Amino acid sequence: MATFKDFRNNIKPNWCPGCGDFSVQASIQRAAANVGLQPEDLAIVSGIGCSGRISGYINSYGFHGIHGRSLPIAQGVKMANRELTVIASGGDGDGFAIGMGHTVHAIRRNIDITYIVMDNQIYGLTKGQTSPRSEMGFKTKSTPEGSIESAIGIMELAISAGASFVAQSFSSDLKELTSIIEQGIKHKGFSFINVFSPCVTFNKINTYEWFKQNIKKLDTIEGYDPTNRVQAVNTLMEYNGLVTGLIYQNKQKPSYEELVPGFREGALAKQDISLKKETFDHLL
Ligand code: SF4
Ligand code: MG
Repeated sequence: MATFKDFRNNIKPNWCPGCGDFSVQASIQRAAANVGLQPEDLAIVSGIGCSGRISGYINSYGFHGIHGRSLPIAQGVKMANRELTVIASGGDGDGFAIGMGHTVHAIRRNIDITYIVMDNQIYGLTKGQTSPRSEMGFKTKSTPEGSIESAIGIMELAISAGASFVAQSFSSDLKELTSIIEQGIKHKGFSFINVFSPCVTFNKINTYEWFKQNIKKLDTIEGYDPTNRVQAVNTLMEYNGLVTGLIYQNKQKPSYEELVPGFREGALAKQDISLKKETFDHLL
């Protein structure tokens, strides 16, 4: 059985010391081992941004894609080989700006992959500009007078788009984050996990300390029921989206694979799907 050490490689991350993304990497490695995966069972696809480097730092299959496009690539990987556990990853700029169309449609499609967003409310790789998750008034080089746009309530949006698994966690809470990723991997359908992952270099507002003071853990709310969609949305609104834990899960919604003929039989990559001329005769 593999341990988290088997998911390490010899590449040293070049994230800034203290960056939240280190914990996300460690949590993926621990979660993968805890659910019984081997490195060859796992594919990690990433987009562009500081977070995009994560696919290179984990011993598994990896694909560092282009900006905002980790989800189309990850869905293609899963469709080609459904036996792989596929994790798509990226940042808030990557997934909620240029990649937002893919995010919403992958959520409602419910394909069986796990999407982990390292949300630092800023563009880190390009040295600190306002992102779709920055609060109104947030001052950066791109908004020196403060952002005049409001932040996207991404968890509410995911639920309204038909998500079957929505969770949020915090880089500083390795135990909760590892558990959430494990649950996401085990969930049969699209698992959307947003992680508050502070950018210590460029975001001096949403710091570790700020999150510690503002986050409400769902397991401290008596009677919270993650199968209750209305309660999930109301709770998100009550705490301005700053909750962590399993927010909503619907185990009944069929996954995309279950609804697509051919997928049920196993990995397309391992089936004889050589194209026969007669298949296309009527088109010629
Ligand atoms: Fe992390 Fe920010 Fe440094 Fe990028 S710039 S590695 S997000 S701390
Ligand atoms: Mg970001």
